Amino acid sequence: MVLKNVVIAGASVAGVTAARELRAQGYAGHLTVIDRDPHSPYRRPEVSKALLSGVLGLDKVSMPWPEGLDAERLVGVELTGLDLAARTVSISSEGEAREIGFDGLIIATGTVSRPSPFGEGIPGVHSLRNYTDSIKMRDELVDARNLVVVGGGFIGLEVAAVARALGKSVTVVEAAALPLERVFGEEFSLQLLKNHQLQGVDVRLAATVASLERGDSGAVSEVVLGDGSRIPADVVLVAIGSVPATAWLAGSGIDISQGVVCDATCAVLDENSDVIEGIVAAGDAVTWYNSLYRRQMRVEHWTNAIEQGAYAAKRLLGIHDPDGFVSAPYFWSDQYGSRIQSIGSTFGHDEAVVLDDDPELLLVAYLQNGRLVAVAGMKAGASIFRYRALVNSGGSLDDVRSHARALREAAEAKRQVLERTA
Ligand SMILES: Cc1cc2nc3c(=O)[nH]c(=O)nc-3n(C[C@H](O)[C@H](O)[C@H](O)COP(=O)(O)OP(=O)(O)OC[C@H]3O[C@@H](n4cnc5c(N)ncnc54)[C@H](O)[C@@H]3O)c2cc1C
Repeated sequence: MVLKNVVIAGASVAGVTAARELRAQGYAGHLTVIDRDPHSPYRRPEVSKALLSGVLGLDKVSMPWPEGLDAERLVGVELTGLDLAARTVSISSEGEAREIGFDGLIIATGTVSRPSPFGEGIPGVHSLRNYTDSIKMRDELVDARNLVVVGGGFIGLEVAAVARALGKSVTVVEAAALPLERVFGEEFSLQLLKNHQLQGVDVRLAATVASLERGDSGAVSEVVLGDGSRIPADVVLVAIGSVPATAWLAGSGIDISQGVVCDATCAVLDENSDVIEGIVAAGDAVTWYNSLYRRQMRVEHWTNAIEQGAYAAKRLLGIHDPDGFVSAPYFWSDQYGSRIQSIGSTFGHDEAVVLDDDPELLLVAYLQNGRLVAVAGMKAGASIFRYRALVNSGGSLDDVRSHARALREAAEAKRQVLERTA
């Protein structure tokens, strides 16, 4: 069927990339892109970095709307439902509700912050997902003395780093024995911990929050831990992860048991696991079968959302790679001016081998059943990308070690040449 009327749900990086790809591949029909966030699209990773620190404003992190896209752009508009039989999405804007018909639909609604177990609406308590959250938190952080971050994941640790640079006293409360240990293993997580401790962050490990106490003004004043200790707090960030933004799809017949469930080609499945014609999905909201890892996975990484957005658009047009969307996802996080990066998926690794522990950088290979599944680095720069092919082919530890040696030798030879010519 030749598509004439495509709707894209979500105008962030996956949605806008999909829109651009549809046009690049010659789609000439009507295109509607819908998002509740009036500021979309912008570089969301800056929400916990330069936007929060105040180094960059919205004008600098906004993503330019693709030139000549020829799309109806509905921002500040809430998606409220999907009718598979009628092939319509329901939307609501300024109290007015209506339906929009489609013959092709791309779902790219990403994630929302996991609801706070301490209740919503406590002054001084924040979650961080979008531009508005970031500006609200920054305004309060400026005058605050004590920040408590609940959750030592990527966003929590990035915010801790931003707040230390602003001179705030920072405590991170983390339930695990080490921050991000489940993702990175002991060696890497220990280094992460040291980085934060060296910068003066008080990291409470294997700790739980019993309650948030309010002062006379009604705003948060203290965080009480499970062991009874009390931490003063003017601002609290609850950074305990996110969940797929699928509330609007509830009851539609789409399988939303683990995000928007798709097959290997990003085609959306119904509750009987059958492909729904003309509906695809991309980005953080999606669980798809990644044949590289031979399992269903959902990835919350910027680059993956771009690559999957482009693939999903081609899938909708029927011009996709039939092998599916195969990905060794890339991720980065910036903390104290040093970049943490990974390629591949460390999930389920049974071996973590340090390839380089030069005091300036850390590079760790993750293997499962003797095959490389991911590489993570701290201050490793572009060298991390030189492992992509080995991750894709599932190299052995010997392959990885000899590759690392060859890279070190090449870097040393280059350094000597530069020294001689200086
Ligand atoms: C604070 C923060 C920092 C991050 N830092 C990094 C980083 O350093 N490196 C990295 O690789 N990744 C990072 N990420 C992850 C990265 O931003 C995401 O992987 C990427 O934005 C996913 O793109 P997406 O288009 O799938 O979803 P999103 O960017 O989440 O966009 C989904 C869009 O759908 C809209 N939407 C959702 N529901 C509805 C609805 N019912 N009605 C209308 N609109 C709706 C939302 O408003 C949103 O604009 C970070 C994420 C956050 C939150």
